[in-house]
Amino acid sequence: YHGIDAVVDGLDGKLYLDPEETVLAELVQKKEACGRERAELEKLIGLDNVTRDGRKINVYANIGSPEDVDKVLLNDAGGIGLFRSEFLYLGREDYPSEEEQFEIYKEVLSRMEGKKVIIRTLDIGADKQVDYFKLPKEENPAMGYRAIRICLDRIDVFKTQLRAIVRASAFGDVRIMFPLITAVEELREGKALVEEVKAELREQGVEFNENIPVGIMTETSAAVMIADILAKESDFFSIGTNDLTGYTMACDRGNDDVAYLYSPLQPSVLRGIKYIIDCANKNNISVGMCGEAAANPMMVPLLMSFGLTEFSVSAPSVLKVRKTISAWSKAEADKVAEKVLAMTTEKEISDYLKTLL
Ligand code: PEP
Ligand code: MG
Repeated sequence: YHGIDAVVDGLDGKLYLDPEETVLAELVQKKEACGRERAELEKLIGLDNVTRDGRKINVYANIGSPEDVDKVLLNDAGGIGLFRSEFLYLGREDYPSEEEQFEIYKEVLSRMEGKKVIIRTLDIGADKQVDYFKLPKEENPAMGYRAIRICLDRIDVFKTQLRAIVRASAFGDVRIMFPLITAVEELREGKALVEEVKAELREQGVEFNENIPVGIMTETSAAVMIADILAKESDFFSIGTNDLTGYTMACDRGNDDVAYLYSPLQPSVLRGIKYIIDCANKNNISVGMCGEAAANPMMVPLLMSFGLTEFSVSAPSVLKVRKTISAWSKAEADKVAEKVLAMTTEKEISDYLKTLL
């Protein structure tokens, strides 16, 4: 294919090789329409995220590295709802030191100037492999040794990260979030380690925030089923719909053969999401969503009706979510949610929600 023209349509995920004139003209038009939409959205910079009936909602951004903070600020996000800390460990030969991590967390917090930053502790294993961890080969890695399970087993590695985060808490509003929680003991053990780290730092006279909130990703079916128990011991929930959809539907997000099942609009997934939000609200803890579904305009009225108050999406989606939120009042969203909850299939739900876009 050397030397021929190619066009990538990032909206539809398509690559056109040597496109015909008419196709090219259509693609150029599409690109211009995107540019116009973006210009419209940029007019929302500096405004609040408010529903049509005046309710304020938080819209945060997800990041994977400190460089992403540029886009967070550019898109006027209210905070960082998910800092995937894996990047610190990936693509290198050895463990990152406490100092190295501390400097990075501090930089992100300083640049966010007091806005909330939720750091998710190390979430490796399964699709994210790191050679120097020497993880065992597994038959079924998605259900194996990963995320918090590794951290609670390799306590030195985990405590190094926790020390770096706790030290960084002196420089902004940081919160700690554990991934892949499936049982309350994991949360308790994680929190006990945070306390251990705090005690050591206190002893050494190092400054930090004594009241760092510690929360969890609710992204497994187990976490849904015990959300009422977890809500009593967790400072906040963040719904990870990417994994939650996969674990609920027993469906790998990367497997095309079963992709037809992978949808957060499946009644099973929606019920799980609703239950998590209900449990959080009953226990007065904050509940956000940091999976891809939070940016889906079809999900927005449902999430508003269920009582979600924090959306965390990729930085380029922040303004779009701001716009979608402003189109809905709670009463209208409630009517939509009531209809959707009475439906029995994903197709029925998505066909109906598409008519509202
Ligand atoms: C999720 O599972 O929804 C999530 C946000 O985490 P990740 O995509 O990193 O697994
Ligand atoms: Mg996940």
